[in-house]
Amino acid sequence: MSHSEQQTGVTESTLGESVTTQTEQGLYIDPQALTAHLPALHYRDDALYMEQVSVAALAKHYGTPCYVYSKQAILDVYQAYTDSFASLTHQVCYAVKANSNLAVLGVLAQTGAGFDIVSRGELMRVLAAGGHASKVVFSGVGKTKSDIEYALTQGIGCFNVESISELTLINEVAQQLDKAAPISLRVNPDVDAKTHPYISTGLKDNKFGIAHEDAVAVYQQAAELSHIDIVGIDCHIGSQLTEVAPFVAALDKVIELIHKLNDKGITLQHVDLGGGLGVRYIDESPVTIDEFAAALLPKLSALGLTVFFEPGRSIVANAGVLLTKVDVLKPTEHKNFAIVDAAMNDLIRPALYQAEMAVIPETLPNKGLDTDAMQPWDIVGAICETGDFLAKDRLLSLATDDVLAITGAGAYGFTMSSNYNSRPRASEVMVSGDLHQLIRKRETIEALYADETLWQAD
Ligand SMILES: *Cc1c(COP(=O)(O)O)cnc(C)c1O
Repeated sequence: MSHSEQQTGVTESTLGESVTTQTEQGLYIDPQALTAHLPALHYRDDALYMEQVSVAALAKHYGTPCYVYSKQAILDVYQAYTDSFASLTHQVCYAVKANSNLAVLGVLAQTGAGFDIVSRGELMRVLAAGGHASKVVFSGVGKTKSDIEYALTQGIGCFNVESISELTLINEVAQQLDKAAPISLRVNPDVDAKTHPYISTGLKDNKFGIAHEDAVAVYQQAAELSHIDIVGIDCHIGSQLTEVAPFVAALDKVIELIHKLNDKGITLQHVDLGGGLGVRYIDESPVTIDEFAAALLPKLSALGLTVFFEPGRSIVANAGVLLTKVDVLKPTEHKNFAIVDAAMNDLIRPALYQAEMAVIPETLPNKGLDTDAMQPWDIVGAICETGDFLAKDRLLSLATDDVLAITGAGAYGFTMSSNYNSRPRASEVMVSGDLHQLIRKRETIEALYADETLWQAD
């Protein structure tokens, strides 16, 4: 132990511009230092604001738990992608599964985004939000006949095909509809994305994509099919990648394939690099969009193809917060529990991926880190599962009815929420400047069982 640790029980984290301090009691996250990295959020007179709207006012007006998204933050990241790749013909296809609220999709559609979808439902959402099917790529390992029919009828931009049986099915359906189906093969480049195993998708033993070594043969098969129009090649190696090297490695593998295909007389119009760029949740230092572009641009320019990207998390994660209120404080001999009105059904990332998400107070305490006034808290929901936690061992000064903001909640937050324990899903709100609007009503409890019936058959 260093001298300073002995005196204070505090160690500075060794990461670059860290916003955390690990104390013997728990992890302290400096709210002001954290929000300095989150363009949508700031403290004004010790009160938290999203854009120009007070978070306390939002919590009061809409109730909690409530997801809030900054329109500007979404647009800024989208713009960063299009600026960084301005020298190339490119299309950003926002990955709908990260956050599929119609307002979010509508804002992106209006600014020219395309979309990456993984289900018929997501395509219907995109169309309902004003997006164009021609700018949509359809990913996913389990497309059904009716999904394919619907997508073809709507004029889908491209199917990202993940297996030979899918390819055959698409050809059959296209024949029946007398259409040519635009396709790319999702190849599995077998690179390690070095991310959480549940969100790593580019390794040999993942269920995704067509093995790199089989790709040329499958393309040749596709070229023989009457109603298939080969337009591109696609890969997506995982999510929350913080380094650029796996992207470069995947691109190299894809380029090698493009050359082999050219040799066989198969030419492509686009290369799709998928999504996966990571974000800073607390102390991570992911590669920036600029650095990402700098590493890939020379290789991409040489190809002369249109480039597609499928970013999800990086566009919306830090545009959103989950607001929650402290219902019960329950100090025990070993641990202190703050039971809040959000739970794992609202935000499952901590429970499912061991994700560490920042929890910051709506009102700043008088001092910064104050180990006397603060206590370590586990921020937990009221669900009957020990896995129901949102954060563990966080040094905070809490009182009942305090409003807390869980940051980085704009991606894989609401979209992964459920009704477990018969809990209605949270409301969603969008903020722009000093405006705010409800973009999804809080579910009612009655609605949860409105489509159910009592057993009456005997
Ligand atoms: C989930 C997914 C994405 C988006 O990933 P992010 O990490 O959110 O950027 C893109 N493409 C495909 C095929 C996906 O499954």
